[in-house]
Amino acid sequence: MTGTTALPTTDDLRTRVRASLRRVGASIPEGSDFRARSPITGEDLFGLGAATAADAEDAVAAAREAFLTWRTTPAPRRGELVRRLGELLRDHQSDLADLITVEAGKIRSEALGEVQEMIDICDFAVGLSRQLYGRTIASERPGHRLAETWHPLGVVGVISAFNFPAAVWSWNTAVALACGDTVVWKPSELTPLISLACAGLLSRAARDTGAPRDVHRLLLGDRTVGERLVDDPRVALVSATGSTRMGREVGPRVAARFGRSLLELGGNNAAVVAPSADPDLAVQGIVFAAAGTAGQRCTTLRRLIVHRDIADTLVSRLTAAYTKLPIGDPFDENTLVGPLISAAALDGMQDALARVQAQGGEILAGGDRRLAEAAPRAAYVEPALVRVGEQTDVVRRETFAPILYVLTYETLEEAITLHNDVPQGLSSSIFTRDQQEAEFFLSAEGSDCGIANVNIGTSGAEIGGAFGGEKETGGGRESGSDAWRAYMRSATNTINYSGRLALAQNVSFL
Ligand code: NAD
Repeated sequence: MTGTTALPTTDDLRTRVRASLRRVGASIPEGSDFRARSPITGEDLFGLGAATAADAEDAVAAAREAFLTWRTTPAPRRGELVRRLGELLRDHQSDLADLITVEAGKIRSEALGEVQEMIDICDFAVGLSRQLYGRTIASERPGHRLAETWHPLGVVGVISAFNFPAAVWSWNTAVALACGDTVVWKPSELTPLISLACAGLLSRAARDTGAPRDVHRLLLGDRTVGERLVDDPRVALVSATGSTRMGREVGPRVAARFGRSLLELGGNNAAVVAPSADPDLAVQGIVFAAAGTAGQRCTTLRRLIVHRDIADTLVSRLTAAYTKLPIGDPFDENTLVGPLISAAALDGMQDALARVQAQGGEILAGGDRRLAEAAPRAAYVEPALVRVGEQTDVVRRETFAPILYVLTYETLEEAITLHNDVPQGLSSSIFTRDQQEAEFFLSAEGSDCGIANVNIGTSGAEIGGAFGGEKETGGGRESGSDAWRAYMRSATNTINYSGRLALAQNVSFL
């Protein structure tokens, strides 16, 4: 695997961050509670102050107060705020992408893509602000009308993960604001700087459009800050993105107070490669999905289920592709694989590789640490390709790093059994030119995931579709389609214009 040019220094990164934040109009609330770091060098950038209990109380109270005005603002006018946010995101796409690269280590093209996704969801939510449709239902009684109306829900608490530090916020926030909710955001403690920039731009959009200042509040800090949102009964919906471990804690706590939660948790995504697959297309799709974002997408391809007849050929092509992946500085336009987020992530990857080898797995490519001398605190690693004989406990678990396990199958039924035999259910795909196989994979007997694709990898969803997964992925749906319904409450209305009282189900009384 090839390396790219020398890494930037931590001082270079600080200069970049200051310049981007200045252009965006945001500043760093310096403090010493926690530190912003860059995985590019693995070193600290700035000390920051975390939100206190009083700050969280103030933010939720202010967002609740703002909700009382925002919920009665006509939805198309609410859309004007989202449109302005989208304009500001367009103006600052490059600055925001820089911050994402510095803090999450994404290569430039993917960081720009993340901001593009934010712009796209704003466009979507502006349209949505004129399309919050309810149904009219046929009444069984003469002179009656049944209707469904949708109302804003309240304060939405958004808890987000490090790996999509800005896009996940925008999926939630653009839609929630169009729906008439206000938002309190607790970003990942690993990515505070990009959240300061996003929150700053939204404040500016609110000023420019006359929206209440507190339609959005930001709370920096670790999970204890998130827990305040989880336990606060004024937070009507907690939309939490992160590990299944986090969701296991958040879901029951929100349910215990009868709040709503929308959980977007871990994945263990697989692709089936059938004998009829276009091999060039499959190799390209697989390498992007498995090694892109250094394996740190919830939708990263982690398991490849290949037909026995083509396994050796495909594996040798993948091995060749893996050995050519340029690893290094994510700002370098030749780099395809940036750093892992932390040394702990590298430890987790190496632990999984050691365990799977002990279970009979064979590492075909990658797995070694890179750039250890140039950046001893950073975690650069070669994406690993591992052939396994069976789906062991290590394969069935999500390791948030670039490991692709290769399994083989003989019949499509066997492939689908393997595919679905994991606790997670986020994304899936099949590479095939056989329409019957493709349709079977997409059918109720096929993939059990929230996302099922044909001839494209598992990652890189568009915002127009609903995003989310089943089983331990949490069941939430965000972004496009009718995911907006999670951010509103519906009321069923019966309107009697007959002048007579008629009871349902022919009940007679009085
Ligand atoms: P994480 O679970 O460590 O943290 C996510 C967020 O939850 C952070 O803001 C954290 O502070 C907060 N948090 C953690 N425990 C909490 C608690 N008990 N109460 C309240 N808040 C709490 O996840 P991460 O390492 O930042 O992100 C990687 C994980 O996120 C992977 O498992 C990945 O698959 C998943 N992910 C899922 C999706 C999806 O849409 N399904 C998207 C992105 C990431």
